[in-house]
Amino acid sequence: MFEDSDFIKSCEVPGPTKEAIRALLVYKSNVTEEDVVVDVGCGTGGLTVEFASRAKKIYSIDKNPHAIEMTRKNINKLLKNQDNIELINANGTEGLKEIDNIDIALIGGSGHELFNILDLVDEKLNSKGRILITAILVDTKVEAINKLKNLGYNPKFMEVNVSNGRILDRGILMKAENPIGIISAKKH
Ligand code: SAH
Repeated sequence: MFEDSDFIKSCEVPGPTKEAIRALLVYKSNVTEEDVVVDVGCGTGGLTVEFASRAKKIYSIDKNPHAIEMTRKNINKLLKNQDNIELINANGTEGLKEIDNIDIALIGGSGHELFNILDLVDEKLNSKGRILITAILVDTKVEAINKLKNLGYNPKFMEVNVSNGRILDRGILMKAENPIGIISAKKH
């Protein structure tokens, strides 16, 4: 487990996905060292770092070259073993074409490609496969749920509201994070 402050950040790249959400995704995915993971929209590498240290293999895809660079910086800083990580600078739809037999698909960014990405993920996911989408926009949450239903899944939706306390001399000041939707589904 890593802390948010462990990650190198850049104003050009969103992330890392916050600690409580990373922890929930690790738990809900039930990731093991047998699993092949894809991280579509790897951003700063928050999820890549967590899942690389637990999975057999991770493919981290981002269309933004700066995101690939930030993910590279963070895996260099935080992970001893990086042999199981492949960084792919491409649109999710392009990057996914090369990958088969996926156990866990993390989707943390999709732009306007969510439907195409989910079509491909569905095609590439094996029979034990799990999908976990993190979304900030209300629209993305609704679109993800409806698309997964159309693909024959029975998706679950959790809205996570986290506040962290700053412990000051005169008391504890709470600071709320953005609410994050986690849309999850299992192959069957
Ligand atoms: N989970 C990441 C943060 C993700 S931010 C972390 O922990 O750091 C979302 C990322 O998705 C951005 O870097 C953005 O460039 C990427 N993205 C958005 N649409 C994409 C697409 N269609 N294909 C690939 N990457 C995409």
